[in-house]
Amino acid sequence: MTDFWNDQIERADYLAGELSGSKDLLTFYAQLLRAQKEIYESHRHRNNPSLSGDLETDLPAVRSSMTVLLESVALHGPESLANEAQDLLNAEPDVVAQKLLDYWRTPADTEFFAKATLQPYMRWLAEARITPVGREFARSESSCPFCGGKPQVSFLQSKESNAESGNRDLICATCLCSWQFRRIVCASCGEERPAQLGYFHSPEFDHVRIEACLSCMRYIKGVDLTRLGHAVPLVDDIHSAALDLWAGEHGYTKIELNLVGL
Ligand SMILES: [Zn+2]
Ligand SMILES: [Zn+2]
Repeated sequence: MTDFWNDQIERADYLAGELSGSKDLLTFYAQLLRAQKEIYESHRHRNNPSLSGDLETDLPAVRSSMTVLLESVALHGPESLANEAQDLLNAEPDVVAQKLLDYWRTPADTEFFAKATLQPYMRWLAEARITPVGREFARSESSCPFCGGKPQVSFLQSKESNAESGNRDLICATCLCSWQFRRIVCASCGEERPAQLGYFHSPEFDHVRIEACLSCMRYIKGVDLTRLGHAVPLVDDIHSAALDLWAGEHGYTKIELNLVGL
């Protein structure tokens, strides 16, 4: 499914070409996506030995795939991240391996390099139906059924079974797969009382909204594909960075930060 990566890259290139407050973020993200696509391809074309889904076993392949991403960030990333990428390129292999394993066992959205490297690895595991090992977290309705990851972004799309309302899906921050989710419910704590759930959007981003919860004060962005069918949720989440600033100013914390830290 190389189409997945090409769709993300095309959308990021297109939006990065527009004059907007998130132009620099999108330019960087477009480069990052290219590196992630290369990582994905390296796993997809790997035959012998094939991946096991156990990161400890797969570590040599994953660690060596990371180089392309580090080189890209060193070249295109914002200064602090570029410096960190350079340090990791010079680091002992054990240091990098430990970073990956730590993220695998205890995911944190601030672990940029591990998250960015493992997304395409996990995406490939999902497509190849290789069950990830060592990620047996407490599961809930709002965690990814495949890998247990948290949701990165939600989207609405028309499905024939329920065309009049449009159905809601969540995209996993860790493996980038999506799963169906109820429409009026907090994607963090499961709150479903309408009075506790708030939806905010600005005319600037007509197809994107903040889906916020007054009970846990968490939010996620929702991308409405019934309004803009060619939007790409992970990319439009970054394009609408201004909404994240608004949510932060109003006391909401994102369920999971995206790769540009918003
Ligand atoms: Zn997942
Ligand atoms: Zn909540």
